[in-house]
Amino acid sequence: MSDTTRVYSYSAVLMGSPILLKLFSHDEALASRVFRLIKQYEDLLTVNRAQSQVMDINHAAGLRAVVVSSPVYSLIKCAKAASMLPDSAFNLAIGPLVKRWRIGFRGDTVPPVEDIVRLLALTDPRQVVLNDAEQSVFLTKAGMEIDLGAIAKGYIADRVRDYLRKEGVVQGLINLGGNVQTLGTPEGGWSIGLKKPFSTSASMIGTLEIANKSVVTSGVYERFFEHNGQIYHHILDPRTGYPLNNELDSVTIVSENSIDGDIWTTLMYGMGVEKGCAALRARPDIEAIFVTKAKEVVLSSNHHYRFTLLDKDYRLTGSTV
Ligand code: AMP
Ligand code: MG
Repeated sequence: MSDTTRVYSYSAVLMGSPILLKLFSHDEALASRVFRLIKQYEDLLTVNRAQSQVMDINHAAGLRAVVVSSPVYSLIKCAKAASMLPDSAFNLAIGPLVKRWRIGFRGDTVPPVEDIVRLLALTDPRQVVLNDAEQSVFLTKAGMEIDLGAIAKGYIADRVRDYLRKEGVVQGLINLGGNVQTLGTPEGGWSIGLKKPFSTSASMIGTLEIANKSVVTSGVYERFFEHNGQIYHHILDPRTGYPLNNELDSVTIVSENSIDGDIWTTLMYGMGVEKGCAALRARPDIEAIFVTKAKEVVLSSNHHYRFTLLDKDYRLTGSTV
């Protein structure tokens, strides 16, 4: 962006995250409406409070189907489809394990193995039964819980983009604590920082220049605790019930829709660099940036963005570099 362009930033804390909205004209009222919209979706989707439409489904597990609103139904349908992909690391029914580990919340501990085994049996996504005609969701076993934490922000970022577009905004950016969605191409494009894992300051490994795209990052450093020298982070492996343990510190996805970015960061976490890059060859619309513990930055491709490496501790590799 050129120095003469005036950008107006509005911030709030919602969904437990700092939210940032950038506009090119001063419009406090529009910013308030955007934050209200985010809050409305949070109220429908959260599992961090006793009541929401998703919690209504969870409370009725093993008892009955619950009719939900269209956005909640379509998001759950999308999350179930991602969970049913072959060998998927994404699982919308991971809730009982997330609640037991409490990673990122007070009281996080390594659960006894018996608990993990017992709770794993309550996370089968096939037991999330959808009824399109009724728009209802039924969790067939008592104790099952849907958790949309890996997909809700992406969905909401897309709804904010659509809302801004409807309001006539041609250039803008929303950052929902790691999920960035953008409209338009300001002069020079949008520059988005790639966070340095585990750094206490706002240090960046590099920057991405994008236009009309979403950038979503999932990292092991976002929520974790340490026990006996080992790091336990918030992305769980639905196959084992433990945090995914591989070569990755973070995965970033550049895509048109933020919901895809949110799903694919989890899928890529499960696959790792090699399998992930191979899988993305069939999806030119989804591009990944892997940051490994060995301080490599691997680009699956970079047709829709430009990456600049800033931190010389890291090495840039990948099929297109
Ligand atoms: P994200 O920041 O988008 O990677 O989402 C992380 C959040 O998704 C966690 O805090 C959990 O609420 C939830 N979660 C953890 N593991 C999984 C998983 N394997 N599949 C789906 N959701 C998950
Ligand atoms: Mg996600």
